[in-house]
Amino acid sequence: MKDIVLTFDDGPDSRYTPVLLDLLRYENIPAAFFVVGNHAKAHPDLIRRMIDEGHTIGSHTMTHKNLLLSSPSYIHDDFAACAALHKNLTGEPLHYFRPPWGINTPLTGKYVRKYGLTQVLWDVMAQDWEAQASATSIVEKIKTRVFDGAVLCLHDAGEDTGGAKGAPMKMIESLIYIIPWLKSQGYHFITLDQYIEGVNAHDIPQRKKNLLWA
Ligand SMILES: [Zn+2]
Repeated sequence: MKDIVLTFDDGPDSRYTPVLLDLLRYENIPAAFFVVGNHAKAHPDLIRRMIDEGHTIGSHTMTHKNLLLSSPSYIHDDFAACAALHKNLTGEPLHYFRPPWGINTPLTGKYVRKYGLTQVLWDVMAQDWEAQASATSIVEKIKTRVFDGAVLCLHDAGEDTGGAKGAPMKMIESLIYIIPWLKSQGYHFITLDQYIEGVNAHDIPQRKKNLLWA
């Protein structure tokens, strides 16, 4: 059995996220959503639905600003706001963080530890946000790039964070093909908790590069 973790960034978006959730429910697989706080705040119903349907929610900052270009006080306030919002929307403490564009700074590490978070990056992207992307191009990229233990990063929103208009629908269309294909190749879709447990239990160094621990 091979493992894979599906993650989706930049949402939720009321046009795309419900369709994606329907598909994940149909395929009976879990995913992790790194949500933009202001989008989450605007769609508490979608956050509730993610939790109810067994998905994991992590923070992707409140506004998707580049943290390298943000002041220390902005970063401080952003981590505090995301932790409070997550607690407010889900009733649970926040556990996971992914910085916009994967850009780390010494301060993000400090606040990841302060808030007891695990920072999660990724192994595989499929340029699903690009204007020239098609369902076929996304499928082909995932097929050639995927491997056992990979964390996949896709986008269920993003027109305000650099993605092309309508791109998330092409990404969802690609999943209609790629999820059954991955299953047919022996891939098992695991949760972020399971991924981290696996990394800890088996001490898989090459997977640790994706994680910054508390
Ligand atoms: Zn993002």
